[in-house]
Amino acid sequence: MCIDFKVLHQESSSQARCGLLETPHGCVETPVFMPVGTKGTVKAMTPEELRRVGTQLVLSNTYHLFLRPGADVIAEAGGLHRFMNWQGPILTDSGGFQVFSLSDLNEVSDEGVVFQSHLDGSRHCFPPEKAVEVQEKLGADIIMAFDDVVPYPTTEERAAEAVRRTTDWAYRCRKAQTADTKQALFGIVQGSVFSKLRTRSAEELVELDFPGYAVGGLSVGEPEELFYELLEHTVPLLPPEKPRYVMGIGTPDYIMEAVWNGVDMFDCVMPTRIARNGTVFTSSGRLTIRNAQFARDYGALDPNCSCYVCSNYSRAYLRHLMKSNEILGLRLTTWHNLYFLHSFVSELRQAIRENRLEVFRSQFWHQYSGQAPS
Ligand SMILES: [Zn+2]
Repeated sequence: MCIDFKVLHQESSSQARCGLLETPHGCVETPVFMPVGTKGTVKAMTPEELRRVGTQLVLSNTYHLFLRPGADVIAEAGGLHRFMNWQGPILTDSGGFQVFSLSDLNEVSDEGVVFQSHLDGSRHCFPPEKAVEVQEKLGADIIMAFDDVVPYPTTEERAAEAVRRTTDWAYRCRKAQTADTKQALFGIVQGSVFSKLRTRSAEELVELDFPGYAVGGLSVGEPEELFYELLEHTVPLLPPEKPRYVMGIGTPDYIMEAVWNGVDMFDCVMPTRIARNGTVFTSSGRLTIRNAQFARDYGALDPNCSCYVCSNYSRAYLRHLMKSNEILGLRLTTWHNLYFLHSFVSELRQAIRENRLEVFRSQFWHQYSGQAPS
């Protein structure tokens, strides 16, 4: 077996659970946030630093690595773990989302997609089998089925077509896996904002019995209430004994609600991207460190955070670094944001184990600037 997942504790007041995900490159405690190493690096952080901030599992993007440096280069290097010097578990996405969002998409058909690289305009045919072949060369512990991703908003007709195609492609991806692979292939539930289609997609994929399931096509610009509604609708449709992954979420509010609804894994490029622009998470909401109000603020980014950055540097210094475009500035804001999210998720795990998530959640929404879901 490629991975093994055990639910260790089911929280009493919610759908939340703590689990242990065993992979060929080590164990992961869930719920878990996965930082995104788009091009085989979580920008600005070494693997040792990632460990230090609490990273257990790294996500990397098939689309980017396929175009540059190429899957063969990475395979010859001994796989992605060795190539990027991260010996912990890795998950690669299938490329579906990037093909739809970054490339110049020429054609989507039942066969697959034809797209042009956003780098040099080169043309590529990408049937689902190719997504598996490339991900096998990269060698991640968990790989994703190739899905038909639709933008928001879309018509019910187009969303239904994407569901049909996603199931068909998921089946083809599984068939394309070579017998000796140790990689766990996850299916991705689509259906846009249509709950009936979400149900159909989940049922069809569950029938195919994947070792784990992702909910895709959420957090793509739909209103927040709709995200919460669809989350609540979709997650219970997935088998409780398997890991459940919601793609593309990485802020405390969305993570809080995903975990509450029984989600085990989530990823997002946002925490590291906003850090490089000088925006940091704090226990009372986001803060833009470039703002003039911090010029003489000698306190920590977040007085409640015990990370290396908050223990040693002031808001005034970090503001100065960011304003001066010093490399250290974006390294330190990235460090803090990752530590902050990982320790937030670790607190969630603790609250789940102690059956006090309901209280934790209401305190969170009281403190965090944002709208609590009704
Ligand atoms: Zn900190």
